[in-house]
Amino acid sequence: MPTRYDHVLTGGTVIDPASGTHDRLDVAINGSTIAAIGPGLAADAARVTSCAGSLVLPGLVEGHTHIFQYVSQVGAPPEEAHLRRGVVAAADAGTAGASTFPAFRKLIVEPVDMRVVSFLNVSVLGLIDFRFGELLNPDTLVADDALETAAANPDVVRGFKIRLSEDVVGEQWETLLKKSLTVAEQAGLPLMVHIGETSEPLPVVLSYLRPGDVVAHCYTGKPHGILDGDTVLPAVLEARDRGVLFDSAHGRSNLSFEIARRAIASGFLPDVLSSDTSARNWRGPVFDLLTSMSKLIALGVPLVEAVTRATVRPAALLGLDAEGYGRLSVGGPAHITVVTETDEVELPDAAGNTIVAPRLEPTLVLHDGGAVEITPWRGLPS
Ligand SMILES: [Zn+2]
Repeated sequence: MPTRYDHVLTGGTVIDPASGTHDRLDVAINGSTIAAIGPGLAADAARVTSCAGSLVLPGLVEGHTHIFQYVSQVGAPPEEAHLRRGVVAAADAGTAGASTFPAFRKLIVEPVDMRVVSFLNVSVLGLIDFRFGELLNPDTLVADDALETAAANPDVVRGFKIRLSEDVVGEQWETLLKKSLTVAEQAGLPLMVHIGETSEPLPVVLSYLRPGDVVAHCYTGKPHGILDGDTVLPAVLEARDRGVLFDSAHGRSNLSFEIARRAIASGFLPDVLSSDTSARNWRGPVFDLLTSMSKLIALGVPLVEAVTRATVRPAALLGLDAEGYGRLSVGGPAHITVVTETDEVELPDAAGNTIVAPRLEPTLVLHDGGAVEITPWRGLPS
């Protein structure tokens, strides 16, 4: 008797925040498409994979990373650090600028087997080398170049990025931020602003931001963060109320467990849960998006909320929801990440503090229905 489905994932706990699904169900796949989600689909399958005891999630969407390999000194390998660790779509956050974007498109966006979009750096140089701030020469912010690149690449450029650290913008932070906002406004795209080492208190920076703009590194332990003691600053809550978004963006130096614990306890969850992976941190302390999720779950973010912020939320922000990313829907693309919880391990934050917590580990990653080779967690003793 012919079977109805090519492949059925059976018995896993399906969590799809986009549809509100959270249940033990089977997921059936035909070719590159999800054919059915429901109970008892295995009888009609040509091939069955048991997912009992595992979580069946939409393929993860990384809202903030650095994957301009070969050109930028901070570029992590896109597939090895992301796809093979459960991420099927990712936004590079400002590693490429207008002058380096053609190389980004040719070397990364086109050849890699995952969906890549970009927050284009407002400096034409982009983030090529951490030692030399890309806006120390403020003339590298060429509005026309940024606008032309965005207009010519609407499939990839989904926003702009400015790193507002003192060693990047020097004294000129205010002029450069205003110019960046004008560019973003003209393009009709969001601006991502990196904080941590900003010279001004956060409320001053927030006062400039528009609904849809993104503040990266919301749990940074550096001065001028979101907290006053145990309390989230009123200006931060006010910014969130008017639609400014907050991205956790772990990074090498911008996740403090202590800040995150206090903020989460007071109910302040990130809008986007991202890793800010780069060549400087993908072998630790960040490792990958699932490890960043594991850390924030251990600090109090409910599992479903963490999944929401690493699937449907960033997919919507990046305009990838229209392509079927960030959700599990019948008739939609079969982008699926199956994960299990490991035994407890020691996990570090950016300052070297540790927590002991279970870790989410990918056991099966499907991109367009095709199984991806998974690489082992890089925190394992070698
Ligand atoms: Zn970053």
